[in-house]
Amino acid sequence: MKTKILTLGMLTVLQFAAAQTGGGEFKFQNTECLSEEVRASIQKMIKANQQKLRMEGKLTSKNTLVTPLFTWPVKKSASASYNEVWSISNYVDHNAGYPNQLQDYNCGTRTYDTSGGYNHAGIDIFTWPFGWYQMDNNQAEVIAAAAGTIIAKSNGFYDRNCAFNSSNWNAVYVQHSDGSVAWYGHLKNNSLTSKSVGQSVNAGEYLGIVGSSGNSTGPHLHFEVYNSSNQLVDPYQGTCNTWPSATQSWWQVQKNYNNPKINAVSSHSGEVVLNNGCGVQESTFFKNQFNSGEGVYIYAFLSDIAVGSPVNIQLLRPDNSVAYNQSFNMPQFYTASYWYWNFIPATFNQTGNWKAQITAGGSTQLHTFSYGVLNTAEEVPEGSQIKIVSPVRDHELLIEYNGKSNQEFTMEIYSMEGKLVTSGKVHLRKGINKLPFHAPTGNYIARMTSDIYEQSFKILNY
Ligand SMILES: [Zn+2]
Repeated sequence: MKTKILTLGMLTVLQFAAAQTGGGEFKFQNTECLSEEVRASIQKMIKANQQKLRMEGKLTSKNTLVTPLFTWPVKKSASASYNEVWSISNYVDHNAGYPNQLQDYNCGTRTYDTSGGYNHAGIDIFTWPFGWYQMDNNQAEVIAAAAGTIIAKSNGFYDRNCAFNSSNWNAVYVQHSDGSVAWYGHLKNNSLTSKSVGQSVNAGEYLGIVGSSGNSTGPHLHFEVYNSSNQLVDPYQGTCNTWPSATQSWWQVQKNYNNPKINAVSSHSGEVVLNNGCGVQESTFFKNQFNSGEGVYIYAFLSDIAVGSPVNIQLLRPDNSVAYNQSFNMPQFYTASYWYWNFIPATFNQTGNWKAQITAGGSTQLHTFSYGVLNTAEEVPEGSQIKIVSPVRDHELLIEYNGKSNQEFTMEIYSMEGKLVTSGKVHLRKGINKLPFHAPTGNYIARMTSDIYEQSFKILNY
């Protein structure tokens, strides 16, 4: 994967607002997805499993002629805060010639082949933005495009590949009632459905997490389909898909060839790093709560926006007045691109919830972040590990703690204006912990964080 950064000449710095802007293409590289040897061994395994399952009565060979109608096989998990998690890098190559003789179902060239004679046999759906981060946090789920029976599973293969290799992938293979089979490949290791071979799955049911196992350049799903005669199917119907299986689309609702969308709008404490090396998680620097004096990076992660079509950003103050408004036209067609704006602290002349609003490709996405006010829980949530006794008396802060003993926390004390007063590491013992507190009389916010805990408390110092 290569990341190209270009500074945008057309984005002039306006007033006081943006100190720096930039962006460009995120290029998802192609590989074969499967070497011929691995593909052949998978076909063998599937055949053997089908025979065995039929003998066991777990698989009827074909009980309908009706082809399944697919739903989209990648789904944003509940924990992902993006608008969408995917973009398409490649369709099936219908031109049997090679190399560089390309034709997808729509008569375009959004596909690839290799000098070895491989014509891309599936649909590659890659995760965007932050593919490795998404994989590590299980944010892009692979789900069954249609109901069927699991006829094979492979797991146990390394899943952080980013270049050519001949290893196998982690995958789930599902046979539908008409005898057709869908392959779901490159899955994250040990993320596969706990259902075993021979069990059935419903359409939309969880199969695994998008990963980069096998011959893969980065986290993506390779979705490959065969009909009951084991002939390759391209589920997309289009002028240049002349295969017999293409008398109808195999999708319930066939998506457009290009899918312009805003995958995410997000705020960050620094410039994100999209390429930290092979298999290494990106540096996201996500941040949604900013203190006074901090700069804010706003990012827009886009897919498939048409050349020349406008992209607009507005930064809205808590009172909804516009602090910044800028547009540019997409300089090129990118399947994935990112654009960012670095706003200096002086931009933020109101405290409260700010909004970044991006409009691109005919849709608008809003992202809210707070500036200058730390969110505090009015009441300590039930079951919380920490309770800070307020008000503070006699320069002594009492912290009641019922978590793991001698746990290290970072404690930060902020003024109500969001200014950091003091910070340090504390080790809490079970029970009541006493800490010296010598700030002037007034209201403060205490923020306690560890690797797995984050909570802010309002405290009054007498
Ligand atoms: Zn592929």
